[in-house]
Amino acid sequence: MATLAVQAIIRYYWVLPQLDALAQYNDRLEVLRVKNQIYQRLKLHSNFAYDNAVWDEAYHATLKRDATWFQTNYFIKQTFAKQKFNGIFFYDNSGKLITGLSVDKQFNALTTPEFTEQQRYQPLLISAADIANNQSTPLLRLQFAAVLDQPAAIFSHSIAPTNETGPTAGTLVIWQFIDDDFVERLSLEDSNPIAIHTGEILDELFQHLSAELLVKGVNAQIYQQHLLIGVRDIQGRPLLAFSFNPSPRLYDQSYLASSTMVGLLLIGSILIVSFAIISIRLVRPIIRLLHTVNHASLNNDYSVRTHLKGRSELFLLAEKIDYLLEVVEQQQHKLTEQNQQLAQLSNTDALTGLANRRSLDNYLAGLASQAANSELALSLLVIDVDNFKAYNDTFGHAKGDKVLKQVAEALEQLTHGATDLVARYGGEEFVIALEATDAENAAHVAANLCRGIAALAIPQTAASEHSVVTISIGIASKAAEQPLHPRELFDMADAALYQAKQQGRNQYVVAN
Ligand code: GH3
Ligand code: MG
Ligand code: MG
Repeated sequence: MATLAVQAIIRYYWVLPQLDALAQYNDRLEVLRVKNQIYQRLKLHSNFAYDNAVWDEAYHATLKRDATWFQTNYFIKQTFAKQKFNGIFFYDNSGKLITGLSVDKQFNALTTPEFTEQQRYQPLLISAADIANNQSTPLLRLQFAAVLDQPAAIFSHSIAPTNETGPTAGTLVIWQFIDDDFVERLSLEDSNPIAIHTGEILDELFQHLSAELLVKGVNAQIYQQHLLIGVRDIQGRPLLAFSFNPSPRLYDQSYLASSTMVGLLLIGSILIVSFAIISIRLVRPIIRLLHTVNHASLNNDYSVRTHLKGRSELFLLAEKIDYLLEVVEQQQHKLTEQNQQLAQLSNTDALTGLANRRSLDNYLAGLASQAANSELALSLLVIDVDNFKAYNDTFGHAKGDKVLKQVAEALEQLTHGATDLVARYGGEEFVIALEATDAENAAHVAANLCRGIAALAIPQTAASEHSVVTISIGIASKAAEQPLHPRELFDMADAALYQAKQQGRNQYVVAN
């Protein structure tokens, strides 16, 4: 804004006045040029006047007042048409008209009292005193006057011998209307058309003249978008005015030049582009960075990235943050995996790979807490390897472990993984939970298990009542529609197991 104000002030107080002065100077030259143009046009007639007034034959004819000679030599249509004048008159030294003719455009004779009534043409004549004042040489005078109420240019020339010496014989007067035709011939040579004004408007126009045709000095006042050149008649009254457009101003007259406006636009554009660059390169990346970091820390979600790439410090920082986020994310993945492995380990028996006691307890507690499970029957088999202490004592602990693995494998193979959970409960004791299985069916399973383990045909010690490794099973069941109490059920099955041992082992007993 400050730049704008300074520009406007400089323009108002210095630039515009300078430009105006130059333009006015240009206008003056323009007026001079048009004035000269009009003079050039009129000079053709002054030359014609001179050629005919300073000529021995015309001189002698004037002295003799030989009207016939003039009529045959001058009143020729082609001469009038060629020279573009409207009349020619000859007067003797006593101020008497010898002869003359005025014509219109079509060469029809006009009656012009302005040249035939002595009182009226008197001011046009060149007297002996005029010649004396002009150092005795022939004199040409251009004047303007209304002829038949129309403006006209009138040339008067003293008639003299060809050698221009001696007394003059009289006055030659030729005249021409200054009308649209005259102006048209002027305008042909000029790019700015020239108009002609006569009548009442002249009083107003003459107050604003840029120049007068027969007055020296030119100012360049513009009136109603026009420069004016005025012409007065012999009595000094306004006769006509020429008007024409001044050259167009080549500069912007408003206080804010178009160059300033362009400058402002440029500055504005630069500001917008700078803002856009700052926004794209700085503000938006910072906001994205903050968003990413906030999201990661608030939601514990390290999968987000800034995805900002570039060479500036900010973008390098963003890349570093993306890298750190990736590292944290990978560490999180590893941690989750390890936790899962850990959870699995804590639920698995290391020796046999079966579910451990903890896993079984959780499993039963889970079933007990779900109302839907009460609709199904459930049987619990508590299994114990017979005389296993003796086995260990005879074959060694390592062999004992191997037997436990074989038994575990067999138990799994002889049950259905989808519905039956086989767990190592501790030592040489296993528990199997049979879902949707009542006591009767559980008994079938148990019988099958006893047969299956015996069928492994693992030799037992002589101290045992059986020659191969066997198992005993206690069974406790909960019927459908009854609540599940894992502890009670287990105790019942354990009691049944004790009974099976008592009855000779390698058998199952169903708890009552
Ligand atoms: P019963 O038929 O009455 O069950 O006689 P038992 O000898 O099997 O009974 P007891 O409970 O007295 O002995 C259990 C034995 O099981 C004691 C121990 O030597 C053996 N045992 C317990 N856990 C393991 C184990 O992990 N590995 C091995 N090799 N032996 C085990
Ligand atoms: Mg035991
Ligand atoms: Mg045992």
